[in-house]
Amino acid sequence: MTKRIVVTGAAGFLGSHLVQELIEEGHEVIGIDNFLSGSEDNLAHLKDRFTFVEADACSTDLLKHTSIYDIDEIYHLASPASPKYYQQFPFETIAINTDGTRNMLNLAVQQKAKMVYTSTSEAYGDPLIHPQSESYRGNVNTWGPRACYDEAKRLGEVYCYEYFTRYHTKVKVARIFNTYSAGLANDDGRVISNFVNQALKGEDITVYGDGTQTRSFCYVTDTIKGLKLMMKRDEANGEIINLGNPYEHTILNVAQLVKRLTGTKSAITFHPLPEDDPKRRKPTIDKAMELLGWKPEVSLQHGLEQTINAYRNTLQKSIKDKKG
Ligand code: NAD
Ligand code: UDP
Repeated sequence: MTKRIVVTGAAGFLGSHLVQELIEEGHEVIGIDNFLSGSEDNLAHLKDRFTFVEADACSTDLLKHTSIYDIDEIYHLASPASPKYYQQFPFETIAINTDGTRNMLNLAVQQKAKMVYTSTSEAYGDPLIHPQSESYRGNVNTWGPRACYDEAKRLGEVYCYEYFTRYHTKVKVARIFNTYSAGLANDDGRVISNFVNQALKGEDITVYGDGTQTRSFCYVTDTIKGLKLMMKRDEANGEIINLGNPYEHTILNVAQLVKRLTGTKSAITFHPLPEDDPKRRKPTIDKAMELLGWKPEVSLQHGLEQTINAYRNTLQKSIKDKKG
């Protein structure tokens, strides 16, 4: 059945991928973005196949926009996600995850729509419990460069809780763990886009700290599948669910893997570790498996191979375009 679906953050990494899948499934999509950390290029190939509204998702006027009618579902993805961007735009990041989330919850109430809010593994901060299950309450610093993102996401979750319990809004919260693919902009600053682009250009691969910190990397198709299942399943209403790949890797190991898979001569170099950089991160996904029947299918090696090929093609094309 065709649905009318709002996606905020449509011009971003995950948003543009989700918009594409929803269009391909035959839905009417209304994408919202203000290009804070996203780009028109991410949507260029989808032009004219969906409605795009350039707007701040915090704006209450959006609820009166001419495209906003008969909405069935809202995916609220808008928010910078890379430390590079949220630290450049701390107040915007706080606003979109708090006021913006409330605005989208009001839209869900107005339209009697279901909503998925994308929270983050950063809600666990620098975790003292390992691996992290949804019941762990986290270890977040309010007085540091990551706080604008982590605490805003946590408050966004609180808004979802209040609307679920008071107004019975069918809202679900996804705590997404590091997701990647070549859809990450070259200059996004997150580790996979940095490492692969550095390796392909023969530049130094920049490991922050000694590289013993860990992350669990999920390929974009797996994460998007999880988000769509969360929207679909009534069992997920009023629930917080981890979406991530439970295979944990040290950052040094990722640098070495990228070096091997690209065959680059790049050196691995070591740089200061950013303040409050979490030391370990790995989700338990029992809840996602039980409520959604979801688990990731793409291994890091396979996902990296796809990512490397796609970035390589883009780089070769841009070299050709410059010459030609
Ligand atoms: P991204 O930065 O690529 O995309 C975010 C999009 O939101 C951008 O296009 C940006 O312009 C838009 N945006 C920001 N503020 C806005 C506002 N006020 N109004 C309208 N649009 C706005 O990030 P992403 O990786 O695609 O992440 C999408 C969501 O998933 C974010 O909420 C992020 O916190 C969450 N998440 C992502 C990851 C990941 O690994 N990619 C991990 C955890 C959580
Ligand atoms: N990182 C790194 N080199 C880079 C970019 C990131 O070593 O060029 C490290 C970063 O310090 C962190 C991990 O990789 O420990 C993941 O960083 P990212 O910014 O991708 O995401 P987050 O820290 O939010 O998980």
